[in-house]
Amino acid sequence: MGAVQSRVWMAEPGALTALRVRCMDCGTEQVADRALTRCPVCGGLLDALVALDAPVRPEQFGVGLPPNARHSGVWRYRPLLPPIPDEAIVSRWEGNTPLYEDDRLADYAGLTGGSLRIKHEGHNPTASFKDRGMTVGVSHARAVGARIVACASTGNTSASLASYAAAAGLPALVLIPEGKISGGKLAQTLAYGARVVQVAGDFDQALSLLRQLTDAYDVYLVNSVNPFRLEGQKTIVFEMLEQLDWQVPDVIALPGGNLGNTAAFGKALGELLQVGLIDRLPKLAVIQAAGAAPFASYHAGGWQTFAAVVAETIATAIKIGNPASTPRARRSIEATAGLVIPVSDDEILDAKAAIDRTGIGCEPASAASLAGLRRLVASGDVAPDARAVAVLTGHVLKDPDAVIAYHLHDGPAGEPAAGANRPISVPAELPALERALADALHG
Ligand SMILES: *Cc1c(COP(=O)(O)O)cnc(C)c1O
Ligand SMILES: [Zn+2]
Repeated sequence: MGAVQSRVWMAEPGALTALRVRCMDCGTEQVADRALTRCPVCGGLLDALVALDAPVRPEQFGVGLPPNARHSGVWRYRPLLPPIPDEAIVSRWEGNTPLYEDDRLADYAGLTGGSLRIKHEGHNPTASFKDRGMTVGVSHARAVGARIVACASTGNTSASLASYAAAAGLPALVLIPEGKISGGKLAQTLAYGARVVQVAGDFDQALSLLRQLTDAYDVYLVNSVNPFRLEGQKTIVFEMLEQLDWQVPDVIALPGGNLGNTAAFGKALGELLQVGLIDRLPKLAVIQAAGAAPFASYHAGGWQTFAAVVAETIATAIKIGNPASTPRARRSIEATAGLVIPVSDDEILDAKAAIDRTGIGCEPASAASLAGLRRLVASGDVAPDARAVAVLTGHVLKDPDAVIAYHLHDGPAGEPAAGANRPISVPAELPALERALADALHG
């Protein structure tokens, strides 16, 4: 225990003075020479500081990177990231994700005269956007000499942390709500060698338990309360805008769980405006699952009172009742005159089936973005001729059980789901296969 109890981070004193964070509430600044997750004065959430005094040109991106970061779609945007020392960087060639366009999904959303682009973050090394934050978080952990990294997770953060910790040669401690994370995510976390602790409770309980531990011991916490995680997640927006030739869309839709991404997107857009790469802000549209929608209720009530909920939804990645980044996310919505709405699990599954049928595919939480856009167009909050981007946060194989249940099992009314694709069984005889061929040809 002695080594763990030591309050001393390993970084040389004074070596990291360029790495600073600021409290979003009281403005107190600190040098980030250790893991920091809340303001020491008022307990507020922290922002990492980035030097943005000079204009930034697109030609600066991807230039002059050290070999260990050269292929990263995150470190490419280093002029807009905190100055982590070269030698600390741990990269797995994250980012560089596709921006698809699909007319069938634009129709599904009701964007008849507009356009829909799909930013697919499931194409990251561990198959979710969490890798973008993790490369910066774990690199910062290395820069400050952390000896162990930890997170509480609904699954994707743990898979990502386990991979990046393995890359960095650091031990990882992962808390998951027992029995409540998908098989794909648990499999990754175990395979990459993290120490997995299953907590008898939900995600919100696991995170508050872990924060008690990291407050008492020198354990580097990489949940999104860590401002360096969010710095990496800003690059979803940077890369999307670069792929759009810096032409700002009307609306960017994303699922909202712990609201780290909502916070990161707002910060990214504000910084792009500040350095002159864009000239206006798109609306952020944050979509929550109806059974886990405390932020949507907070917004609908005019930001009067925030009330945590006990979360319940099939979309486990956003099954969060007390989002840690709520105040930062509110700032993002206010700055972009954004929208926050709930969608039902049935709407999520229907949108997911539509995305899957195009061959693109995603995990359930990701499909909330398309389900939400469809609802916002139907309600008139987004115009049918809008140019929209929907962010898909994770890969279809993250949650194979959800796919199998949708296609193979009847719903509560004893009916298959609207988009169910049932396999057929045949005897090992050619005529039976010929009938299957005819069916496949004629739909
Ligand atoms: C983490 C995660 C989310 C939620 O993101 P927040 O930043 O917590 O709001 C949504 N979808 C997937 C697939 C995720 O892994
Ligand atoms: Zn403060």
